[in-house]
Amino acid sequence: MNDCPFCAIAAGTIAADRIYEDEEVVAFRDINPQAPTHILVIPREHIASAAELTRAQDPLWGRVLHVAQQLAVSEDIDASGFRLVTNVGADAGQTVPHLHLHLLGGRAMSWPPG
Ligand code: AMP
Ligand code: ZN
Repeated sequence: MNDCPFCAIAAGTIAADRIYEDEEVVAFRDINPQAPTHILVIPREHIASAAELTRAQDPLWGRVLHVAQQLAVSEDIDASGFRLVTNVGADAGQTVPHLHLHLLGGRAMSWPPG
C-alpha cells in the first residue's frame, strides 16, 4: 500500500526509532507513548488489522507476538508486567490501518480500558 505510514517505516522511507527488525517483523517506539515503554511491533507485510489475518498468516502473527515478548525482556518489564494490545477498527480506536501490536509497560495500568 503506497500511502501507509507503517509500510513506509518498514521500508525505511519514514524515520522511526527502530529497536528491532528481521525479515518479517519491525519494532519501533511509539511516537506518542502512553507508558514508559510503548513499542509497536508490525509485520512488514501490509495487513489492515487483526480482522484481516488468514490462517496462512498464523506463523507471522506468532512471530509478532514472540518479538513483543522478547522486547518485554529487553525493556526489563517482563517481571513487572506489560500489556499487549491490537486495536481493530473504529470502536477500538485504530488510527493506522496496518496491523500493529502495542507493547506497553513500565507503569501500573487500569482495566477495563477506556
Ligand atoms: P492505533 O490507534 O492502535 O492504530 O495505534 C497507532 C499508533 O501509532 C499510535 O499510538 C500512534 O502514536 C502511533 N504512530 C503513528 N504514527 C507513528 C510514527 N510515524 N512513528 C511511531 N508511532 C506512530
Ligand atoms: Zn502498511
